[in-house]
Amino acid sequence: QCAAVCPTGALVVKSEIDTVWKALNDPAKRVIAQVAPAVRVAFGEAFGLKPGDRATGKLVAAMKYLGFSEVYDTCFAADLTAVEESREFIKRLENGENLPQFTSCCPAWVRYVELNFPGYINNLSSCRSPQQMFGALAKSYYAENKGVSPEDLFVVSIMPCTAKKTEARRPEFATDGVRHVDAVLSTQEVIRMVKEAGIVFEDLEEEPFDMPFGFATGSGFIFGTTGGVSEAVIRAIDPLNNRKVEDLRGLADFKETAVKLGNREIRIAVVHGLKNAKDLLEKLSRKEVQYDLIEVMACRGGCIGGAGQPYPNDTDSREARSRGLYREDKYIQLINPMENPAVKNLYEKWLGHPSGTKAHKLLHTEYHPKKRIHGEEIHFEGAVGSVTD
Ligand code: SF4
Repeated sequence: QCAAVCPTGALVVKSEIDTVWKALNDPAKRVIAQVAPAVRVAFGEAFGLKPGDRATGKLVAAMKYLGFSEVYDTCFAADLTAVEESREFIKRLENGENLPQFTSCCPAWVRYVELNFPGYINNLSSCRSPQQMFGALAKSYYAENKGVSPEDLFVVSIMPCTAKKTEARRPEFATDGVRHVDAVLSTQEVIRMVKEAGIVFEDLEEEPFDMPFGFATGSGFIFGTTGGVSEAVIRAIDPLNNRKVEDLRGLADFKETAVKLGNREIRIAVVHGLKNAKDLLEKLSRKEVQYDLIEVMACRGGCIGGAGQPYPNDTDSREARSRGLYREDKYIQLINPMENPAVKNLYEKWLGHPSGTKAHKLLHTEYHPKKRIHGEEIHFEGAVGSVTD
C-alpha cells in the first residue's frame, strides 16, 4: 500500500485503491463515483496531455471500463453548494450575524479553524463541501430512487486531495454508521488504477457524465481554482453582475474586491495556502481589515494544486490547470448556479427550497472546536462564538 503526504495538513494518508477494487468486484455492491472539478484538467497529464487540457470524457470512459455503474460530476454539487452558500450569506448580511462568512468547502481549512481559531467557528459557512453534499444525496435521494439500500451503495470520490479522505471519515458525514462517501481516490490513485487495468487512454471514446448529477454551470467548474467559490457565490446572489470577477482570478497570494448588492457594498477577500490564511485571520482579529466574505483554500492555487494531483504540481502546472477551468466556464452557456436545470429539478422533486428544512438537514453541518492531545484530535465543546459577534 502506498501513502501520500498532504503538505497542507501534514497528513500521511493510505491509498484506498484496494478498497475500491474490492467494492468493484463485489456483486452485492453498486459502485458509483463523483469527479471533482480540478481532476479533469490534470488527469490527462499522466497520458501525454498538457496541464489544463480537458480529459473529462476519457476519464469517464476509463472509469466505466473499471466497473463503475455511473460516473457523476462533483461540479453539479459545487453548483448546489454555491446556491446554499449564497442563501446563507444573504441571511447573514440581513441579520448582521457571523460575518465575515468563511467558505467551508476545503476540509483542511475547516480543520485548521477548528484546531487553531475556534473563536471563528461560527464564521464558517455551515454548507457541507460539494463532496459531502453529493454523498448525502447519493445515500438518500439516489438510493431511494434506484431502490438500493445505502449499505449496498458504494460511493467513491475522485478528488485532487488527500484531506478529502479525512473529511469523508468525519462522523457527521454518516447516517446510522453508514458513510455517505465510502472511499476517496486521489487523481494519482485513479491514474494508477487505469494503468493497472491496462486501459489504453488514446483508444478511449469519450463519454459524458451520467444524469441526474452530471450537469453543471460554469460556476461549478471554477470551484476548482482559487477565487472560484467566491465568484460562484457572487453570480448566485447577483446575476446581473459581470460573468467575470477579474479581481478574484489568478494565483496572487491575496486578492480582494467589492461588489454592489442593492445599495450595499460587499467586500470579499480570497487567500490560498494556510500561511496566508493565518495572516488574514490575525489581521481580522486586530481589526485591521473588514470583509463580508472570505474564501480560503489550503492548497496553493486551490484544488488544482491539491496534494493528490500529478507531478509536477508546480506554479506553471497550476496556472495551466486554472486556465483550463476558466476555459470550461467560458464555453458553457449557463454560468449562474441558480440556473442549473438539474439543481432546480432536485429542489422541486426532493429538497424543497434552497436553505429550507430538508436542504439544511442534508446539505449543511456543524463544526466543533478540536484540540490535538498527544497527536490525537479531540473534539471538545468549548465556548464557541464569533469574534465579530
Ligand atoms: Fe483539498 Fe487542497 Fe482543495 Fe482544500 S484546497 S479541498 S486541501 S485540494
